[in-house]
Amino acid sequence: MADERNNEIEETKIQGVSGPITGWLDGHTILVGLMAYPIRHTMSPTMHNNAFAKLGLNGAYLCFEIDNEKLPGAIDAIRTLDMRGSNVSMPNKKKVIPYLDKLDKTSQMCDAVNTIVNEHGVLTGYTTDGMGWLRALKKDGQDVKGKVITLAGAGGAATPIAVTASLEGAKEIRIFNLDDDKWAQAVKNVETINKETDCVASVHHLEDKEDFKKSIAESDIYCDATSVGMNPLQDQTLVEDPSWFHEDMVVSDTVYAPRKTKLMEVAEKAGVKHIYNGIGMMIEQGAAAFKLWTGKEMPTDYIQEIMD
Ligand code: NAD
Repeated sequence: MADERNNEIEETKIQGVSGPITGWLDGHTILVGLMAYPIRHTMSPTMHNNAFAKLGLNGAYLCFEIDNEKLPGAIDAIRTLDMRGSNVSMPNKKKVIPYLDKLDKTSQMCDAVNTIVNEHGVLTGYTTDGMGWLRALKKDGQDVKGKVITLAGAGGAATPIAVTASLEGAKEIRIFNLDDDKWAQAVKNVETINKETDCVASVHHLEDKEDFKKSIAESDIYCDATSVGMNPLQDQTLVEDPSWFHEDMVVSDTVYAPRKTKLMEVAEKAGVKHIYNGIGMMIEQGAAAFKLWTGKEMPTDYIQEIMD
């Protein structure tokens, strides 16, 4: 169960507000939220509230410390308070599904939701993480259509990347995972993609380094969506030898802290021209949710400046 929220109002430094607040946070303000536990580390309020302010939209984004136990009441509150919607994160991404009225195709295939949209009391679940990854690549002129992708991982980040890439026309996705608690999800992702899309998916053991090396050599895109590269595995990378990469491929790490991972250093040594960290994915998944709630494009260049 989540800790009792300390509901005393803390002192904070509100940047950019020097006079009385008018036209913002008034009787018309529409609320969106984030329901997760733990939650205090999140950058989402910074992203969305700055986007509302920049576009002059009367919206506010607030975080709610919601675990599985509080989830049913929290979802009811979306309807009761006429919230525009909410993000959901762990531990609620799968648990939320029975409380929603509809799911988009990506959420059905991922069996998870990260964004809820409230249309007059009808709640629809979406999954924007994979679209975020794709939009970040597209913004830099890269596309997955007709491409061969080697993807490491089958967890909360990797699953929507695989599903979205398959729905957006990737030719082949080879999913590599350790024989750990996410192996079954890797198998499930491959079955779902092969059943629902024209993309050819296959599952491989990450322990088989020769197979992994060969797959990367044959790929247009290598994406690491594992926990390797972030704390506490910050000094590690699944690919240590630059010769595994070729210059014309895309190398994408979903990690955004640190901004430059070991994997990115290896890719740089290999002369890879298109190397990405996870910050673009993080901002663009927010932008995709923002569009669903507001119908407007998030000013992502401005948001990126704030986040960097
Ligand atoms: P998760 O726990 O759901 O999945 C973790 C994955 O990493 C699994 O596939 C697991 O098998 C694999 N893994 C764990 N330890 C490993 C190791 N030592 N060697 C090889 N594989 C290992 O976690 P998640 O939420 O999917 O997060 C995975 C990564 O994605 C993290 O690095 C996180 O920073 C990143 N992420 C990025 C964004 C973004 O918007 N950029 C969003 C979510 C997660």
